[in-house]
Amino acid sequence: MIKNAELYSFILIYDYKIICSLSFLAFSMRAMRLHEYGKPLKLEDVPVPEVRGEEVLIKVGGAGVCHSDVHFVEGHWKEILPTKLPITPGHEVAGWIEDVGDDVVGFKKGDPVAVYAGWGCGVCKYCKSGMQHLCANIVMIGLLGADGGFAEYLHYKTYRNLVKIDGLNPAEAAPLTDAALTSYSAVKKVLSRLHPDGHVVVVGVGGLGQYAIQFLKLLMPTVNVIAVDISDEKLEIAEKLGADYIINSKDKNFIEEIMKITKGYGAEALLDFVGEGGFSTLVLGKKGVAVSVGLGGTTLSMPVFQTVLFEHEVWGSFYGSLSELEEVVELAKTGKIKMPIEKYKLEEANEVLEKLKRGEIKYRAVLVP
Ligand code: NAD
Ligand code: ZN
Ligand code: ZN
Repeated sequence: MIKNAELYSFILIYDYKIICSLSFLAFSMRAMRLHEYGKPLKLEDVPVPEVRGEEVLIKVGGAGVCHSDVHFVEGHWKEILPTKLPITPGHEVAGWIEDVGDDVVGFKKGDPVAVYAGWGCGVCKYCKSGMQHLCANIVMIGLLGADGGFAEYLHYKTYRNLVKIDGLNPAEAAPLTDAALTSYSAVKKVLSRLHPDGHVVVVGVGGLGQYAIQFLKLLMPTVNVIAVDISDEKLEIAEKLGADYIINSKDKNFIEEIMKITKGYGAEALLDFVGEGGFSTLVLGKKGVAVSVGLGGTTLSMPVFQTVLFEHEVWGSFYGSLSELEEVVELAKTGKIKMPIEKYKLEEANEVLEKLKRGEIKYRAVLVP
């Protein structure tokens, strides 16, 4: 027989267990996690970290899947990036503020925000001049030192790197934080080199290239944009987004074609969103500049003779600054750039990575948890 006191303590213990299990449910979330390079991400329940100080908890509205996620998850950068596994990938995120630390000012629960993909040390010369992305100690969500947005919630270091996106849908806005920002930063680098009636070549018109075409036509409407890709489907999209010429480099010698289009002068600039296989300074005219953004492969090559005689330049372009993200968001708010996305469930991250690798994603794929 159970005595009263025993019964009470039994109920108390039982209640306590229910409360514990309920509180676990309340403070855990689903996330797609990378445990081993080259292996599929695993769907897991992980704790939602608490926020303190300047930290912010963001309810993920969308996390874009970038081709860099393919490179990263497959382990192409395992010798270069000192990432500790497991990690939740996803560096292209927008959502709503869920919770804020005590020192956060200007943000409250429910505010829609775009997330700058990382943060610098704050004290080096790059950070101090607004170029956190070049900081030697940069932390990048989903890639290096912090979990990313392939999850229901994102725990983020500081409200200072968030941009408010009132009026925009977070799932559609997520690609602004990388696909758009990275291509915007590359386009801005070459603007002063373009003649209003000149030519600029965009190689690779996937997630990033589609934004580059739009920014070029928005910022210098009269310049001729030549889009190059190996997919007719992507080239059709490029044309709709404003490309003046399209070339499928599988079918045609794109260097010859570009020389014909430019009447033998060559283009003033090349924006390469592929890497090895897409990069060719031979499309450039004298004093032309090639901007290398794509991270495919390991080595870019340039012919010595033409590089020297034609005074070619090559610039790298990595991500963009926080102030450039503000500019991109402002442009998006005007409705002048199209932000087409393909929505997928969080659990579909592995399929999406495979599709992206095979070139089967038309627009930017966004995981919506
Ligand atoms: P994506 O897969 O959406 O688009 C790539 C496009 O390139 C596709 O349309 C594909 O058909 C085309 N392509 C592939 N091989 C080609 C070739 N040989 N010639 C012409 N076109 C070719 O990829 P994405 O997310 O736009 O990323 C593009 C590249 O940019 C990736 O390598 C990614 O890692 C890199 N990236 C760099 C930065 C940076 O800061 N520099 C930022 C984000 C992404
Ligand atoms: Zn990216
Ligand atoms: Zn720094």
